[in-house]
Amino acid sequence: MAYVVTENCIRCKYMDCVNVCPVDCFREGENMLVIDPEECIDCGVCDPECPAEAIVPDSDPMADAWTEFNARFSLLWPNITIARTPPGDAAKFDGVKNKLRDHFSEKPGDGDE
Ligand code: SF4
Ligand code: SF4
Repeated sequence: MAYVVTENCIRCKYMDCVNVCPVDCFREGENMLVIDPEECIDCGVCDPECPAEAIVPDSDPMADAWTEFNARFSLLWPNITIARTPPGDAAKFDGVKNKLRDHFSEKPGDGDE
């Protein structure tokens, strides 16, 4: 069991979640985060912290398309444990449809610097 970051994180990336994770399992892409399923201890603390409501347990039907996605990109992206300033246009992208198709970037983020 693990928690999973889903589509609405793309270009929202508020990063409130990274401050509360007790095991530092968030990984940063250019415009979204994922959770490393190998490190997540399923505590659920991050779920209510996400302003975009993008974090769900992998038992949630909404997670189906995202479980493999989180596992794949957590191997490619750097660790992030300290929140930085969210993108200036984050609120504009909250709830936008088809973000994976139209706005996702496979590039890694900066991670903790
Ligand atoms: S708080 Fe939510 S929207 Fe922000 S980075 Fe974490 S998962 Fe993404
Ligand atoms: S469920 Fe807990 S361990 Fe997993 S990502 Fe969220 S805060 Fe971290």
